[in-house]
Amino acid sequence: KKDMVVVSACLAGCPTRYDAKGTPCDAVLDLIREGRAIPLCPEQLGGLPAPRPCCERLGDRVMNAEGEDVTDAFERGAREALRIAQLAGCRTAVLKQRSPTCGNGIIYDGTFTSKRIPGDGVFAEMCRKAGMTVMSEDDLTAQAHTCAE
Ligand code: SF4
Repeated sequence: KKDMVVVSACLAGCPTRYDAKGTPCDAVLDLIREGRAIPLCPEQLGGLPAPRPCCERLGDRVMNAEGEDVTDAFERGAREALRIAQLAGCRTAVLKQRSPTCGNGIIYDGTFTSKRIPGDGVFAEMCRKAGMTVMSEDDLTAQAHTCAE
């Protein structure tokens, strides 16, 4: 039996992003069709609606573009998403790149100027600390060779 994978809900095409859109990825959709993936949106599990103001990590906090500190909702949602992923036995996460929650390896720098820095989103960081393998949709696609941006 193959391991279950937790995936960002927006990569399944769910309209969960800050702009109330999804960004479907063929390789992620294939995993779901095979019954191998669970789509979750940590930000929505933290109680945030879509649409919502754009957010970025700033040090150990998460701020939205209106200057509000949304760290508590981000951390609550990431904890809940991790709990569900662990209940389902997920050992791998395929997460939307550059998101303040799901980004892995590269995120925005907190100035809302599109500047990228090394780092993980809140959920990606929690998954790594829990011992899971974290990759982006591009990493998965490099393995599967098909993805819509
Ligand atoms: Fe997608 Fe993650 Fe953002 Fe939710 S929190 S919209 S799953 S990138």
